[in-house]
Amino acid sequence: MTTGQARPTAVHRVVIVGAGFGGLETAHRLAGAPVAITLVDRRNHHLFQPLLYQVATASLATSEIAWPIRYLLRDRPEVTTLFATVSGVDAANKRVLLDDGDALPYDTLVLATGARHAYFGHDEWEPFAPGLKTLEDATTLRRRILVAFERAEREHDPERRAALLTFVIIGAGPTGVELAGTIAELARDTLPPDFRNIDTQQARVVLIEAGPRVLAGFPDDLSAYAQAALQSIGVEVILGQAVTECAADGVVYSGKRLQARTLIWAAGVRASPAAEWLGAAADRAGRLQVLPDLTVPGHPDIFAIGDTIVIAGPDGQPVPGIAPAAKQQGRHVAAAIKAHLAGEVPAPFRYRHAGSLAQIGKRKAVIDFGTIKLRGTIAWWIWGIAHIYFLIGLRNRLSVAISWLWIHARDQRAARLITQGSSKVVR
Ligand SMILES: Cc1cc2nc3c(=O)[nH]c(=O)nc-3n(C[C@H](O)[C@H](O)[C@H](O)COP(=O)(O)OP(=O)(O)OC[C@H]3O[C@@H](n4cnc5c(N)ncnc54)[C@H](O)[C@@H]3O)c2cc1C
Repeated sequence: MTTGQARPTAVHRVVIVGAGFGGLETAHRLAGAPVAITLVDRRNHHLFQPLLYQVATASLATSEIAWPIRYLLRDRPEVTTLFATVSGVDAANKRVLLDDGDALPYDTLVLATGARHAYFGHDEWEPFAPGLKTLEDATTLRRRILVAFERAEREHDPERRAALLTFVIIGAGPTGVELAGTIAELARDTLPPDFRNIDTQQARVVLIEAGPRVLAGFPDDLSAYAQAALQSIGVEVILGQAVTECAADGVVYSGKRLQARTLIWAAGVRASPAAEWLGAAADRAGRLQVLPDLTVPGHPDIFAIGDTIVIAGPDGQPVPGIAPAAKQQGRHVAAAIKAHLAGEVPAPFRYRHAGSLAQIGKRKAVIDFGTIKLRGTIAWWIWGIAHIYFLIGLRNRLSVAISWLWIHARDQRAARLITQGSSKVVR
């Protein structure tokens, strides 16, 4: 069956799949264009992924970093929001296929379906070392971290207690670094007064990275600073050693077994199956190879943007999989659609890198603006202001700012809630 959307066919129909950074920006930037937009997402919310680790570590609540997509587009009568999962594209008949058998006709299609974590061929590790991509992932991790402390409080066997108080993060990119720093501070600063039988400061936070340094995308000096900052708050940093096994009782790296009840995967990503839907060329991470105007080769009516694509930047390197890149591409696609409707030829996409940021614990960060590099507290303030600025809505900005001030002033993390299970949960 085809969901016709009951729109006059004379109006140019744009279907956008994915209401993440790229898709939502496309919809916003198409305001005023003579188009009827259908925005499809399998989740009902737009998620601010850069602060997901703060939900996982009980610093922020889920509603502070996610917003209903419908609400964000409530003032746009030409935009129809659909809560549905796309399972393919019938490019010959210009239809998007949904997993329930429905189909959506389009004149122009924008694929903005992002990426998910990848286990380098070891998907069987996922139950033991979950990754961080969705709100569910974040609340699952939060539960595992908090339950580990709760179980340690009741554990009499010293070995089992030590394993419960060992937290292993695999992958030292920005997400791994941010998670490790925040879990260390949770154990060192927030939890100690609340427990009677354990000293939460004895918890081990171990960050394992196969490459030679943390934050590999940053310059050497900022990497070295980040490593030292992590170690100063008690994080054990293990570099140049690849994890070869993840299991319920711990992890194996370079032939060594480390007993740990909480493993977190922050090591790799794989693009959504957009390239498979189109039978199009992709790189090893499954990222769709697009033309300079962000259309898919052989499909001038299909654009793809964000984490699901690979395209070279002005320096010849792949454009990084970060939110500003997805937003710039969304902006470009909206301009290209408008140009096309006006009978003009759109310019090729040109990426402008604004900088890279990562937080290390509650008072330190590193920022690489290219010519300017910042570290320490000043970088942390800029990091914080930038993230608050990009949140949606005054209420959320205020709420996040207050949560952070509270963490700074009192070391209290208000979102320390164990959900999705009672004390009977196994992990
Ligand atoms: C933990 C974490 C931390 C990060 N930190 C930073 C950071 O500090 N700074 C930064 O710039 N970037 C950061 N990123 C990266 C940034 O979030 C991504 O680059 C950005 O979200 C990419 O935007 P996108 O639109 O391509 O995809 P996404 O924002 O991931 O959106 C994809 C959307 O598509 C939907 N979707 C996927 N498949 C389907 C389907 N089959 N049917 C329907 N809908 C579908 C999803 O539900 C989702 O809403 C982080 C990412 C993660 C996971």
